[in-house]
Amino acid sequence: MTATLDLERVALDAGRELENATPPEILSWAAQTFGDRFCVLSSMADAVVLSLAAEAKPGVDVVFLDTGYHFVETIGTRDAVAASYDVNVISATPAQSVAEQDAKYGTDLFARDPDQCCALRKVAPMNTALANYDAWATGLRRDESPTRADTPVVQWDARRRKVKVNPIARWTQSDVDDYIAAKNILVNPLLDDGYLSIGCWPCTARVEPGADVRSGRWAGRAKTECGIHL
Ligand code: SF4
Repeated sequence: MTATLDLERVALDAGRELENATPPEILSWAAQTFGDRFCVLSSMADAVVLSLAAEAKPGVDVVFLDTGYHFVETIGTRDAVAASYDVNVISATPAQSVAEQDAKYGTDLFARDPDQCCALRKVAPMNTALANYDAWATGLRRDESPTRADTPVVQWDARRRKVKVNPIARWTQSDVDDYIAAKNILVNPLLDDGYLSIGCWPCTARVEPGADVRSGRWAGRAKTECGIHL
């Protein structure tokens, strides 16, 4: 494994040097730099980043956080991705099933304390899964929301001490749509049903016309992120 201090330097240097690079160039750099210590985190909203990553690194690991609260369409997309792309899909599950969590914390923890629910069902499983890697790729984009407007193409994830690669950070929604159409990329059918950002079903609503694509996540609450990108 690369030394932690070296990883931080690698991340900060790459963030500057790759700012104007294309997503394939950024992912090729990540594949060459980290090899099998590199993975993609996917919400299975679409297969854009994982398809780009598979071109840079065939058979790349794709981590999916299987919270137990996903729409059936999202599970179907995960299974279709595993069957359609040259990737290795890894479903990371929480320590407790939903039933076990209900028994310990009471039913519908997501409605009473979504931060704790996300910590148990997303953040903890992700941290466990990422222990096997030095770098992880995301589909974060600057145009998704004001809180993501400064997303670097490569950054240092200080909390997990990993390199975080955001290859499509500079892409717009139009760029994504063009790529999906040109490459016939697999997408979650919920995207065509008004769900422009897809998470767990209890915390995901359709987006109002003209609103931020992430405005349907934890709608009506101050919460905007599940914690894996903080
Ligand atoms: Fe729980 Fe909602 Fe977070 Fe999913 S998004 S882990 S249901 S609080």
